[in-house]
Amino acid sequence: MSQIVTRFAPSPTGFLHVGGARTALFSYLLARHHGGEFLLRVEDTDRERSTAEATQAILDGMAWLGLEPDRETVFQSQRTDRHNEVVEQLLESGQAYWCECTPEEVEAMREKARAEGRKPKYDLRCRERGMTAAPGRVVRLKAPLDGQTVYEDLVKGHIATPNAEMDDLILRRGDGSPTYNLAVVVDDMDMGVTHVLRGEDHVSNTPRQILIYQALGVPQPRFGHVPMILGPDKKKLSKRHGALSVLEYRHMGYLAEAMVNYLVRLGWSYKDQEIFSLDELVELFTTDNLGASAAVFDVEKLNWLNAHYIKEKDPAELARLVRPLFEKKGLDASDEEYLRRIVPHYQPRAKTLVEMVEGADFFLYSTEDLPYDEKAVNKFLKGDAVGRLRDLRGMLAGLPDFEEETLETALKGYVERNELKFKDIAQPMRVAVTGRTKSPGLHETLAVLGRERSLSRLDRALGMAGE
Ligand code: GLU
Repeated sequence: MSQIVTRFAPSPTGFLHVGGARTALFSYLLARHHGGEFLLRVEDTDRERSTAEATQAILDGMAWLGLEPDRETVFQSQRTDRHNEVVEQLLESGQAYWCECTPEEVEAMREKARAEGRKPKYDLRCRERGMTAAPGRVVRLKAPLDGQTVYEDLVKGHIATPNAEMDDLILRRGDGSPTYNLAVVVDDMDMGVTHVLRGEDHVSNTPRQILIYQALGVPQPRFGHVPMILGPDKKKLSKRHGALSVLEYRHMGYLAEAMVNYLVRLGWSYKDQEIFSLDELVELFTTDNLGASAAVFDVEKLNWLNAHYIKEKDPAELARLVRPLFEKKGLDASDEEYLRRIVPHYQPRAKTLVEMVEGADFFLYSTEDLPYDEKAVNKFLKGDAVGRLRDLRGMLAGLPDFEEETLETALKGYVERNELKFKDIAQPMRVAVTGRTKSPGLHETLAVLGRERSLSRLDRALGMAGE
């Protein structure tokens, strides 16, 4: 196969939507699988709605997922001259013509057709009039009037559209601006795009675009239209169902690996495998395994994948990822070695990085700022527990080291000597050094906190208990 070139062509009117990210991912994988190129074209011709921030958000979202394009980004708005040049070319070759019908007139034609039980269409009034350029006139494609436009969709299979159903579509509007379908064709052609993967909402544009390719006499790319993503209620995915922006998932503490793995499974499968790294996807991806039925967004599955990738991740890398999340809470998280020792205790269970940071933030507080849960203090830092904590404080201060095993042996010894149960000291100690009733195992927690922090927190707790 000659070199495969794919592209992602978002309109920068908002954030990078999960549906867009999925299309980008499929296009990226298709190109990478075949050793081809993946390109990015920003379709910013709608000047009112396109913003620089939205373009940046799309770039950031793609970079986060690891979908780096292979060439410089193309901005559609900068290519208007080229679009118009192609319109001129079509006019010259007789494949396009000037039309003076106003939108109101065209609407009236459609109305009339509807009333007569025909398909609503432009009635070709100007097609053979040989009109010339004049302000306000549009340029239309001289499309075939009969026959069919046929193509093999990479996802949906054979698609045939009777040409009689398609209007002589407008290539250039009355204000001189190129239309969407014309611009997409010219750009895809100039960028050498061989495979277009996009959302199903574009499926009706495709036969129209094919007619433009045919008029230009250039080969058309292969097209594939991926089905919509639905919410769990089987309605089109919307804000009601949860976050739609890929970067919002990043902020909620999802790992890029989990997001990529999750997105690819919204419409693509390989046997009954669920876990795929990006490298493995590059190796396995073909359009043959793209499914034609709509995918359902299931946040539980995303959570499951995220938990998996959190578990697998190298603690040092995870430490780098959680650092900004601690810092967002105003905590000093600059000691990466300390973070690296904290995170493994949360990796087995955390569903998101945010959940991890919520659970582990007590490690990062200074003794003075550590928040104590009042209910836990009232319940556990009283009575006999206080005297025991004082004893334990003395014992911990004298230990030869603060390793987990040393701590475990010492605490066990204390419990046995005093004929106690471990639970008699566990929660009071935990509340004293963490301020709360939930933390990783007591020995592990103390070992990570280290002697200095553990003792100063114990002192503060003893102070609170009136000692
Ligand atoms: N700009 C279009 C969109 O964001 C995509 C066009 C295409 O992929 O051909 O929906």
